[in-house]
Amino acid sequence: MTLLSKRLQAVYQMVDKNTRVADIGSDHAYLPVELLETNIASFAIAGEVAKGPMSRSKADVEKFGLSEKIDVRLGDGLAVINEDDKVDTVVIAGMGGILIKDILSRATEEQLSNVKTLILQPNIGEPLVRHWLADNNFKIVDEDIVAEEHHVYEIIKAQKVNEPVNLTEAQYLMGPVLMQKKTPTFIAKWEHKLNSFKKAVANMHNAKVIDQEKIAAMNQDIKYIEEIL
Ligand code: SAM
Repeated sequence: MTLLSKRLQAVYQMVDKNTRVADIGSDHAYLPVELLETNIASFAIAGEVAKGPMSRSKADVEKFGLSEKIDVRLGDGLAVINEDDKVDTVVIAGMGGILIKDILSRATEEQLSNVKTLILQPNIGEPLVRHWLADNNFKIVDEDIVAEEHHVYEIIKAQKVNEPVNLTEAQYLMGPVLMQKKTPTFIAKWEHKLNSFKKAVANMHNAKVIDQEKIAAMNQDIKYIEEIL
């Protein structure tokens, strides 16, 4: 039986076989445990900044007899990774886009030196994450979207490339791969957003002080969403 929620199962599906993974902000270490139990990863670091979750992770890893293959480390972001670890895949899941971008921005060249793949699951603020990826030569190669307990989660997989990465504004907003896949969950998410954006624009027009810039930005997003849907 899997330990993983539907959201973490979707993250798990993005990890390639025979990888060395760092799960940053691992909390319970369910993802590394599942990756090692099913022989997807050959080694994993469960990185955690908080002592409580880190102890919980350690206990889970020991319970599954995986202490040889999963290193639970206390530390901030990618600071838990050394060059010798040869980590090629970094997962950051279950946090806001601002925090994910902040963690990635503070990573040093050494910490990222072997990293080929990033698998990111922001709970909110996906466009910020896509901007960081494009600005740092990571090309989005896969995306997924899942609904769980009244929330919709997007998962973004990106690989390091040598050429510049450019996305359109619509792609930053909605995801280049998700726009192609157009799953029912994607359509439901953006139909819901479209309605709330239209209501917000109507309310802004009725406000005492009309913020034309904000209205224009929201109308632009409405146009992108309508085009894609
Ligand atoms: N990744 C798991 C998941 O998706 O279910 C756990 C998500 S949990 C909501 C976020 C975890 O990230 C918390 O345990 C928190 O302590 C940890 N965290 C927050 N900022 C961090 C940082 N800068 N470095 C490492 N861990 C961090």
